[in-house]
Amino acid sequence: MLPFLRPALAQLNTYTPHPGGSSAEQLLDRLDTNENPYDLPADLKQKLAWAYQQEIEANRYPDGSLANLKTAIAAYVNQSAGVDFVTAADLSVGNGSDELIRSLLIATCVGENGSILVAQPTFSMYGILAQTLGIPVVTVQRSSSFELDLAAAQQVIQQATQQTGNPPVRVVFMVHPNSPTANALTAAELEWLRTLPEQILVVIDEAYFEFSRATVLAELQQRPNWVILRTFSKAFRLAAHRVGYAVAHPELAAVLEKVRLPYNLPATTQTAALVALAYRTQLLAVIPTLLAERDQLFQALSQIAELRVYPSDANFLFVLPTSTTAANLFERLKSAGTLVRHTSGGLRISVGTPEENQRTVERLQQILSSQSI
Ligand SMILES: *Cc1c(COP(=O)(O)O)cnc(C)c1O
Repeated sequence: MLPFLRPALAQLNTYTPHPGGSSAEQLLDRLDTNENPYDLPADLKQKLAWAYQQEIEANRYPDGSLANLKTAIAAYVNQSAGVDFVTAADLSVGNGSDELIRSLLIATCVGENGSILVAQPTFSMYGILAQTLGIPVVTVQRSSSFELDLAAAQQVIQQATQQTGNPPVRVVFMVHPNSPTANALTAAELEWLRTLPEQILVVIDEAYFEFSRATVLAELQQRPNWVILRTFSKAFRLAAHRVGYAVAHPELAAVLEKVRLPYNLPATTQTAALVALAYRTQLLAVIPTLLAERDQLFQALSQIAELRVYPSDANFLFVLPTSTTAANLFERLKSAGTLVRHTSGGLRISVGTPEENQRTVERLQQILSSQSI
């Protein structure tokens, strides 16, 4: 390793991004990253193309204040939660919510100011980004139904402060509903999060909100130590454009604004997010269909004896094979033409188009019946 590098980075596993864009992968059913399977409709792409030709000055910096986008996001957040208290001052917008995760870590933990707590299995970016910044990651395991062991979490928070020499737990990351396991926070988990002291930031990642309709937004006003993360990468069909946002106490939102790069969102991305919000009724209209597809996929996979399928509040299913390894099943599915995510000893399968879902079922049936003979 080059001698000027931080030794901790040698051990770090790189996040394996989706192999997007390669033509070989495009021939597969790409059910590994939980995107909406439907591209932006042609008329909206036309609007983006028009904006690029007529409005965007490629030689000028984009709007670094993100003012228009924040106003539009605030209106959507309020409308979708039936509240009216969210304003632009409560928002920070990131180059994907991944950027906001990093900004939150910089704002709270960097410089031995804190550790983070995650409940495994969960979204891997929290731990990866923390490690790149030299921030200790404290983990607790989830139960067999993927609920957080509250007593263990409480104990770990106390131990981390008193015994390990790590800085105290400053941030608890929870996904609602969780990835890869697809379960929403339970009433007991939420109750525990409410008991956490004001020195601990609670991050509720609602990346799948448009599918689950589960949100803690209504509580945010009473809880200055809670922040919600959302993204345009899933239901809103804009993964290619990279937009996420945080809804937070205005003091935290202001610090996130200090931490972010001044021109973090390209002009084309800002336009795409504004268009998606303006036409959200049209874009989100496919969600009931995707949820019905998910339920059908759940039923079909539940019929396969060699699979354990978990209930889902999102647009993906988590399955554990019982007669072979997840690694083997992953490889065989890929050879058959379906790419899923191999993680946490299981497979996370995104809900795709009806044709893709049908193929998922057929391929799993075929692979599992042939190997059990
Ligand atoms: C997909 C996803 C995100 C979104 O990340 P972006 O950087 O906005 O694309 C964030 N959190 C979780 C849990 C996710 O599954």
